[in-house]
Amino acid sequence: MPVDTGAKNPHPLLTRISDALNKDIDGQARLDLLTTIIADSLETDVCSIYLLRDSDTLELCATRGLKSQAVHKTRLRTSQGLVGRVIQQAAPLNTADAPNEPGFRYMPETGEEDYRSFLGIPIQHRGYSRGVLVVQSKFQRKFSDEDVENLKFVASVVAEMAELGAFVGKEKALAPPHTLPIQFHGTCAQEGVASGNVHLHEGRVIVSNLVAENPEAERKRLRQAMSKLKGGVDELLLSPIIDNVDGESREVIQAYRMFANSRGWLSRLEANIDRGLSAAAAVEMEQSEVRTRMARSTDKYLRDRLDDIDAISNKLVRILVGQESASHELPENPILVAKNIGPVELLEYGRSLRGVVLEEGSVGSHATIIARSLAIPLVVNVSEISAEALDGDRIIVDGDTGIVNLRPDAPVAQAYYDKMAMLEKEQNKYRQLRNFPATSKDGVTISLHMNAGLLPHLPSLEISGAEGVGLFRTELQFLAANTVPKRERLAKHYSNVLDAAKGKRVAFRTLDIGSDKILPYMKRHEEPNPALGWRAIRLALSRKGTLKMQLQAMIRGAANRNLSIMFPLVAEFDEFREAKSIFFEVLERERQYDHELPASVEIGAMLETPSLAFAPDQFFKEADFISIGGNDLKQFFFAADRENERVRRLYDALNVSFLSLIEKIVERCRSANTPLSFCGEDAGLPISAVCLAAMGVRTLSMRPASIGRVKNLIRKADLAAVRSTIDSERAKGASSVRPRIERLLEDC
Ligand code: PEP
Ligand code: MG
Repeated sequence: MPVDTGAKNPHPLLTRISDALNKDIDGQARLDLLTTIIADSLETDVCSIYLLRDSDTLELCATRGLKSQAVHKTRLRTSQGLVGRVIQQAAPLNTADAPNEPGFRYMPETGEEDYRSFLGIPIQHRGYSRGVLVVQSKFQRKFSDEDVENLKFVASVVAEMAELGAFVGKEKALAPPHTLPIQFHGTCAQEGVASGNVHLHEGRVIVSNLVAENPEAERKRLRQAMSKLKGGVDELLLSPIIDNVDGESREVIQAYRMFANSRGWLSRLEANIDRGLSAAAAVEMEQSEVRTRMARSTDKYLRDRLDDIDAISNKLVRILVGQESASHELPENPILVAKNIGPVELLEYGRSLRGVVLEEGSVGSHATIIARSLAIPLVVNVSEISAEALDGDRIIVDGDTGIVNLRPDAPVAQAYYDKMAMLEKEQNKYRQLRNFPATSKDGVTISLHMNAGLLPHLPSLEISGAEGVGLFRTELQFLAANTVPKRERLAKHYSNVLDAAKGKRVAFRTLDIGSDKILPYMKRHEEPNPALGWRAIRLALSRKGTLKMQLQAMIRGAANRNLSIMFPLVAEFDEFREAKSIFFEVLERERQYDHELPASVEIGAMLETPSLAFAPDQFFKEADFISIGGNDLKQFFFAADRENERVRRLYDALNVSFLSLIEKIVERCRSANTPLSFCGEDAGLPISAVCLAAMGVRTLSMRPASIGRVKNLIRKADLAAVRSTIDSERAKGASSVRPRIERLLEDC
């Protein structure tokens, strides 16, 4: 992979490395040559290059000084030895007495017992680890600060060379970059399996000119690129667009401006050029350094700034290499891979995507909510995937297990194709049940509804055979906008939803924001426990303007039709009473202004806090219907954060205490003659759904894709038998009825 750099670099070591890059030799020979050049230049006995073979194995790939038989034989985990420590800490390790350093691990096959001094430098590309560069010497010497600095630059060039494919050889650790199959493990955020081709949200930029041919010219290029960058940011801040962006986006642009004008940043970049790097490589090296320093911080503010630095550095590199636009065409069956993505950008991709994989993100982030609403598999927290994936790579995302296979080999791909075919077959089988009722073997009919949040979900009513929309989450229109949506637009939206429902009932839930769902234009209030904080109906009742506007839009949207509204997270009767009276106040005003009114109105509450199960009888009488929001109810009942994987999974809807709470709610609704439904995620899990039905819940609302599965099991189950098993397990003192119920339903 020769690149003509001219090699007039004043820095002698980098000049020799640049020559090595230009030589027409194979990757192994180039690595060997590098170790010789570095060892000579530092007048040391040993120079070795360890490269990551997979995410946690380092392989000795070249050495001058250690036994050559150890090359490609010596491997160690990133948790082992001093070399592993350099990777783990992403920082140089410089010691004159290696054998007495904590973590020292002697590898006899290398013959390193003779060497006492050790200097290890992480090889990183844009902050992502690629390997470790090590120099060692026999006599006890601590390498100088100057040596450490020099080797940092060398390691940065080695990282860029690895990225360019300069070390391609026949060993696995020397495979061309971005070609091996890799399996990543992340967190499931939306179920389903999808296979397709990678679309990088921010296309990759390749820096091929690594070493400064002429530092003066590189400085000039850097300054020109900087002024273009500054000009772009200033233009943005002066343009009318800025008036329409929300506070947070404006803050980000201000932060960009701060970096673009920062003297410190510019002088660090210039210093990198002076030490021999090209302007683009200098930006990447600084980005890597900052990323390493700041990534250790747990401070949210600093971590956000890190994203700003990444974004602005990428922009600057793009200007320097002449690839200013990050946008590029979508491949067939695109699967989006990104560090992170905002809800608006994700909505812009819309339905064209087959799946989404994010390096950051969380189960409760906006992007997750949007991906869920688009019903595409989503896996988040997939460490380093955006550094490894290339546009167009084959990728399989399994949202059920959180496993992402990049460039899968044939057997892995086949296993997934089989899984997808089986799921498809299962769905086909369930489709046959579409027009049959969900009546259990002992004759109890359960009404199955679907959850929705976007207009494009509505056709699923027909396809799934759902009887109505048991939960319409209205926050997506608010989350996706930059300002509070206009009333008329919302009214039109609600009207379209009712049109698309073709007379079937739609239960609109009023805005459920706060906690993890923060509107981009909403002022943030730091709260120690946001899930228990100022959210949902609490926020609505203290900011009545937005609530009234939304109710008005719903009333107008439902002109001459039935309107069902429910309020989220009601914790006490008074909240419900107040929200309901606001609704009737708004309705009365609409009447006075001669707006067409809904033909009928039902006002319900979501039961998502244990306290509401114990509300006065009047509450159950006054609510036209009640819908159990099991996701929140479970988290508050068990005091287990629904977004925290560590505790969330400990508690099961089939826990006897939770089922007893459901039984209590069923009884209270029954005696008040109030319709009850359950719309949390458990309604869509067949065994949980059958148990909820056995406890007396007669309406379940779930994702459309779950309806067939749930109906299939209900039709085969004997609810009375399920109930008596639950009762006997409770009497025996079991914690969860799951094991017994699973056995009971095994043959269904
Ligand atoms: C719930 O809490 O169960 C629910 C349906 O609401 P959300 O998941 O939107 O909080
Ligand atoms: Mg909820």
